[in-house]
Amino acid sequence: MEILITNDDGIYAEGIYALAKALGKAGNVTVVAPDTQRSAVGHAITIADPLRVTPAKHNGKFFGYSASGTPADCVKLGIKSIMKKSPDLVLSGINLGGNLGYNILYSGTVSGATEGALLGIPSIAISLDTFTKPDFSAAAAFAVKLSGLMKKRSLPPGTLLNVNLPNIAASKIKGVRVTNQSRTSFNDWFDKRTDPHGNTYYWMTGDFKTKDADRDSDVNALKAGYISVTPIQFDLTDYKFISELQNWDIKR
Ligand code: MN
Repeated sequence: MEILITNDDGIYAEGIYALAKALGKAGNVTVVAPDTQRSAVGHAITIADPLRVTPAKHNGKFFGYSASGTPADCVKLGIKSIMKKSPDLVLSGINLGGNLGYNILYSGTVSGATEGALLGIPSIAISLDTFTKPDFSAAAAFAVKLSGLMKKRSLPPGTLLNVNLPNIAASKIKGVRVTNQSRTSFNDWFDKRTDPHGNTYYWMTGDFKTKDADRDSDVNALKAGYISVTPIQFDLTDYKFISELQNWDIKR
């Protein structure tokens, strides 16, 4: 199995290393990831600048390719230029921080997997719902299990899996729920501050709204101690609204 791995936390993040190490037993892993932290870049790609690619080491040993671009750039580069054979699977993660609800629109992690799916490769985004004291072992093990399943099963064209895990010991995880994307998002605001030169600047911050009445949502699965697996797609058309919009006399 040829596996391409990326994530927006950058090639030197702990989570991408944990994922690559675990998947190394399941297949032939190629890591192509941003050279720096690129979280929340969404599906951005680089078109006005060149992409520099350099080998990256981990503990003195070759680990993967560091690229001066976004996760979507890295997946394109990996598939179209770096890998000799097209991958059988694209994995994006393990991200530090959950990718839940509407926040996935901003996610570089999810966009790495989306790019894989756009290019016709079975793709999975995987995130750990914490920003502190991460334990990536359960997520890495689940990624290995899912990759095994991907050999036997197939995803519909244009569909990818968005996986999130609670940051608890593997023994405490209650199981896996197939979920839908929650309709919650960040409640964000801007901290207004003053720099050393007396100029005003703003820093976005916020908290994640975890109140969600929808039992089947990704957010509630995590809250209840389950791994959430949400099938997502990138066709954003609101099919139900098409006929009503036709009646708006919009074409006259
Ligand atoms: Mn990230």
